Amino acid sequence: MSTEMVNDSSDILREKSALVFPALPYPEDALEPIISAKTVGFHYGKHQKAYFDNLIKLVTDTDYSDMPLEQIIEGTAGRPERTAIFNNASQLWNHTFYWQSLSPKGGGEPPAALKQKIEAAFGSVDAFKKEFAGAAVAQFGSGWAWLIFEADKLKVVKTANANAPLPKNARVLLTIDVWEHAYYLDYQNRRADYVNAVLDKLINWEFALQNLNK
Ligand code: FE
Repeated sequence: MSTEMVNDSSDILREKSALVFPALPYPEDALEPIISAKTVGFHYGKHQKAYFDNLIKLVTDTDYSDMPLEQIIEGTAGRPERTAIFNNASQLWNHTFYWQSLSPKGGGEPPAALKQKIEAAFGSVDAFKKEFAGAAVAQFGSGWAWLIFEADKLKVVKTANANAPLPKNARVLLTIDVWEHAYYLDYQNRRADYVNAVLDKLINWEFALQNLNK
């Protein structure tokens, strides 16, 4: 990946920007057999990288050129004339958060402090998984399902396309990408199988707990 980045044509633009393309937190094959190295390779190396490259080009010579990513997202959300910048910035953030929401050591039982909050909100961990998977499957077309902490309670929400829960109102704990590029090579049209496999084997409870305690 680093060699590819050095030779990338947008390197000159990138030098002027505060933005960085974040490293994957694990090797591309670390999520196998639930998510293949091929899927991760395309998803991270092509899809997320394209959002990053597009964003660098779009913000060059604008007010956003030396802003951190979160500030770009905040500044462009809900502004139709800034949709392209928002979409690429938000997708860059969402994907970075998605990779962290997964772990080769994920799945299983949540840590006690998180489990207690999940049981208070959903009744049981299984009931949470059912609601989260339901939101992920019900999202029409491309988008995301999220676990958030809002008004002192855990909630499941879904968003379309590049949108994410606004960080001013909620703490974001976990996400799953339900754009077809996230699962089609491995699961074809079986989105529910992808979501349930991720929840059982990859979901990063430790990351959720860190976000809850922020
Ligand atoms: Fe994606």
